[in-house]
Amino acid sequence: MIRFKNVSKKYQIGSQKVVALQKIDLTIEQGQLTAILGPSGSGKSTALNLLGGMDRATEGAIEFEGEDISAFSDRALTDYRRNVVGFVFQFYNLIPNLTARENVGIAAQLTGNQNEAVHFLEKVGLEQRKNNFPHQLSGGEMQRVAIARALAKKPRLLLCDEPTGALDSHTGQQVMQALQEIAGAGEVAVVLVTHNEDLISGASKVIRLFDGQVQEVVSGTAAREDSARENTASKSTDRKLEEAGP
Ligand code: ADP
Ligand code: MG
Repeated sequence: MIRFKNVSKKYQIGSQKVVALQKIDLTIEQGQLTAILGPSGSGKSTALNLLGGMDRATEGAIEFEGEDISAFSDRALTDYRRNVVGFVFQFYNLIPNLTARENVGIAAQLTGNQNEAVHFLEKVGLEQRKNNFPHQLSGGEMQRVAIARALAKKPRLLLCDEPTGALDSHTGQQVMQALQEIAGAGEVAVVLVTHNEDLISGASKVIRLFDGQVQEVVSGTAAREDSARENTASKSTDRKLEEAGP
């Protein structure tokens, strides 16, 4: 669905040049959860901003269904951001004096029917909480409302920048499960940016960035098997810790 070809992004700060991405190639497929993994400063957010049309590449092509979005006019790029892309951030940015349903409803209104808000809350397992305000929800629930809000725009591409960064590992897993189910439904490509190795279980593909370059791409069963092993390992550690407790 999306393909980066030889994409570089350079920032100029005064006389200093920062190369955030250096000649990278990658593909993002519909119906898959793709994780972009790497340490802080490796270029993850830069890659996500380019995917989302929030920034332009310095060099290379970014093809969305065969069209090079880096050659789009500003207006076409605005349409792309508006119609194709949904964003989920680390901090949920919900409107505090609106209920879950109303927060999602605002976004649903942009593309059509505000009454569909509950339908999107169902997709993240929160239909029971539709009349709750953000302060009545846990962090993980607030993030799932934010995901429902992003889905209400009916994006083709759901971009998530460290969506579990403010959550504990258990709630983080619930958010990850919601993202997996959304990708599994087949209509959206979900891209997750994270520095946390524990979160890549369930990703269809893992793209590892280091210093602005693609270090490794693991896709299909290999990505799943690796993460299954990690899961088992961390579960047994949890159990040991519990047993060791009072
Ligand atoms: P990550 O999300 O993996 O932490 P980023 O994509 O945010 O990494 O940053 C990659 C590199 O690009 C870093 O060295 C960062 O300082 C630099 N960078 C990112 N955004 C800007 C910007 N707007 N101006 C200048 N440098 C930037
Ligand atoms: Mg970042």
